[in-house]
Amino acid sequence: MAKAPLIILTGPSGSGKSTIIDRLLKESGLPLRLSVSATTRPPRPYEQNGVHYYFWTRDEFEKQRQAGAFLEWATVHGHWYGTLRSEVEDPLNRGIGVLLDIDVQGAAQMRAHYPDCLSFFIRTSSWEEYERRLHKRGESPESIARRLAAARRELERSDEFDHVILNDDLNRAVAQVRKEIEQAFQKGSS
Ligand code: ADP
Ligand code: 5GP
Repeated sequence: MAKAPLIILTGPSGSGKSTIIDRLLKESGLPLRLSVSATTRPPRPYEQNGVHYYFWTRDEFEKQRQAGAFLEWATVHGHWYGTLRSEVEDPLNRGIGVLLDIDVQGAAQMRAHYPDCLSFFIRTSSWEEYERRLHKRGESPESIARRLAAARRELERSDEFDHVILNDDLNRAVAQVRKEIEQAFQKGSS
């Protein structure tokens, strides 16, 4: 069976990772699925348990962590987030590419498990744009301040990634990411 790629999207909050992933899932025509992470962060109004995240208490998260359920986990913006082994291994074993929306710490851990993975760092060209997008998404002023401070640290590590994608024009960013994923599928089948 052809080897399907593990694909990491990282970048500051508001850079557009989830939006790009949604577009790839809907329109790329490639066999892809999103790895749904577990988190202790409270859901946003539009978010559904099991679709956007598994929303767990700290107790549940800790129990699963001790049971070895996570491939990686990290504290991000004051909450715990983790990639579940089952969300990644099962689809890859069936030839389905897996998309991960994770932070820089998680990306480094996943690279150690999957050295062949394909990794993208998504960014915008200005600070004002992150702020505007986070505001539009309904984040509180405290949350925006925290996420912008983290963005500065994350941007310093963008050169750890295979590709840095500027997401000012969404269509262009989606096309760039898609092209690289198509090539990774081709490589896996040759
Ligand atoms: P992330 O997952 O990186 O935190 P989101 O995908 O949630 O970011 O995007 C944050 C906000 O920015 C959303 O409201 C989304 O619709 C918007 N957005 C994403 N990409 C673009 C773009 N290229 N131009 C304008 N707005 C965008
Ligand atoms: P948000 O709260 O905006 O959904 O996500 C905040 C940050 O946590 C983002 O940078 C996102 O990529 C990251 N994140 C989401 N899921 C995981 C995960 O499973 N592991 C790690 N390490 N980071 C994650």
